[in-house]
Amino acid sequence: MSEQPGGTGLVLNEPLLWERGKTGRCGFSLPAQDVPESPLPAELAGEGPDFPDLSETEVVRHYTRLSTWNYGVDSGFYPLGSCTMKYNPKTNERQAGLRGFTAAHPLLPAALSQGALRLMYELERDLAEITGLAAVTLQPAAGAQGELAGMLILHAWQQSRQSVRTKILIPDTAHGTNPASAALCGYAPVAVPSDERGIIPAGVVDSLMDEATAGIMITNPNTLGLFEENIREIARIVHGRGGLVYCDGANMNAVLGVVKPGEIGVDILHLNLHKTFSTPHGGGGPGSGPVAVRRELERFLPVPRVVEEGGAYRLREDCPDSIGRLLAFQGHFGILVRAYAYIRSLGPDGLARVSRLAVLNANYLKERLRGTLPLAFDRPCMHECVFSDRNLQGTGIVTLDIAKRLMDYGYHPPTIYFPLVVPGAIMVEPTETETKEDLDRFVEAIQAIVREARENPDLLKEAPHRCKVTRLDETAAARNPCLIG
Ligand SMILES: *Cc1c(COP(=O)(O)O)cnc(C)c1O
Repeated sequence: MSEQPGGTGLVLNEPLLWERGKTGRCGFSLPAQDVPESPLPAELAGEGPDFPDLSETEVVRHYTRLSTWNYGVDSGFYPLGSCTMKYNPKTNERQAGLRGFTAAHPLLPAALSQGALRLMYELERDLAEITGLAAVTLQPAAGAQGELAGMLILHAWQQSRQSVRTKILIPDTAHGTNPASAALCGYAPVAVPSDERGIIPAGVVDSLMDEATAGIMITNPNTLGLFEENIREIARIVHGRGGLVYCDGANMNAVLGVVKPGEIGVDILHLNLHKTFSTPHGGGGPGSGPVAVRRELERFLPVPRVVEEGGAYRLREDCPDSIGRLLAFQGHFGILVRAYAYIRSLGPDGLARVSRLAVLNANYLKERLRGTLPLAFDRPCMHECVFSDRNLQGTGIVTLDIAKRLMDYGYHPPTIYFPLVVPGAIMVEPTETETKEDLDRFVEAIQAIVREARENPDLLKEAPHRCKVTRLDETAAARNPCLIG
């Protein structure tokens, strides 16, 4: 790479450290030697690794510059639908960084980890209260693993009743992990079509639910941002035919303190602590997907279980009906601390306000953008709303181009082409932590892009223009994932 004259502070192309090094340069100074020199043992002598020689300043600036390249919710609006990319209060990071937590080892005896065990116990109780269910495991490492745990519990319950069932009902709006988790447990997913209102009609469940079907995996609110209004009736039908209702609770940010899934017929539910309960995510992990169940299913939860006896806490392993262990140790503990701090600092009223504001923000965006992009379902929404590119037919512009152009306006693109039932879907989840001004600016950006689509479509076709990496050949990138060319 040829370097231009001038400073490099704002230059966004960063050379590799290997391109920057100068032989003999050094990043540290050792104190003068105060012991006699002695030769290196023969086995350690020879050429060292091929590391570049750099000064401390060069190294610090290199990594500091790279650290600003990552777009996160702390740097701007991140309306990625179904992912709840909300601002996570820094105080929760601080609690998770407390020495007593970070220095605790999972193999410490219970007597020396009472604080950590109590936090887990109380977090389980809080999540049980929030979900309206009886018992919780904090073990699963992500939403998808929570689903797997839930399916294993469902399977163990069916087996305990000598019931052999091979299928599971899954709405056509479901996240891809739902059928994958069910299939891992040997269940054949049966797609349940949503209706013209974007939800599952009870009649369709009635026609599909038979003696070979283990239950239903339903997401509520669903991935269209719509509340499954028929959930009670659906649960009645499924229960009546010997099935269970699994709820994918990844969208719980819409209903905290407003709806308790356990009170509307749900038997098993997973939460995504990294979406709803204050853990930054988006880089691939770690996550946490606790699972809550009805009292009758508690005996199947993974081991170990945190139990309290006379004010002392311990881990219990002797649970003969348990589905077993899903993860080393006690789950992703740092995330549990963040969730605990988040729940305790907001309290029940604060949590309900989170959801009300999340729903208000989504409906505000929906109303302000309704003349600009067509709505997939023109109804009041929950935490997110879904648009499409239908009105741009004839311009040659599709959803992908809008998403790419949004990056030029400084935004992380929304979720696109999901859920699959909406052709050209653009799924926007603003979350509760954005101000009206920020939402207005986003609306103006979308309006400007849709104008550009009509007046200067090439601008969108080639977008992004202002980013470090411009339009990628996504097919080639997927087939040949080589980052150094
Ligand atoms: C995010 C999400 C999942 C999967 O959760 P992970 O933590 O990413 O494994 C499942 N269902 C829905 C609806 C989601 O939004």
